[in-house]
Amino acid sequence: MRAVEGDSKSEAELAILIGAVLRVVEMEIEKFFDRIDGKNPPKKKLICATCSEPVAFNVARFCWLNKIRFGENIYCRECQQAV
Ligand SMILES: [Zn+2]
Repeated sequence: MRAVEGDSKSEAELAILIGAVLRVVEMEIEKFFDRIDGKNPPKKKLICATCSEPVAFNVARFCWLNKIRFGENIYCRECQQAV
């Protein structure tokens, strides 16, 4: 009897342990993807609203500083002249 009780207990413990391990693995996977996603926001893709060409940061900043003219959009140097 004792041995059976012991076995069922360890089985339950094992299930809890597996559950805990799976949760940790899940968290690590989430953290991993967070890190990948987290890398993108600072290097937000700066793309021209008109021609979809990549825009240099200082060019994008120029647009942000001239929001009255460009609104929320970013334009490359060429397209800025057409706005
Ligand atoms: Zn453009």
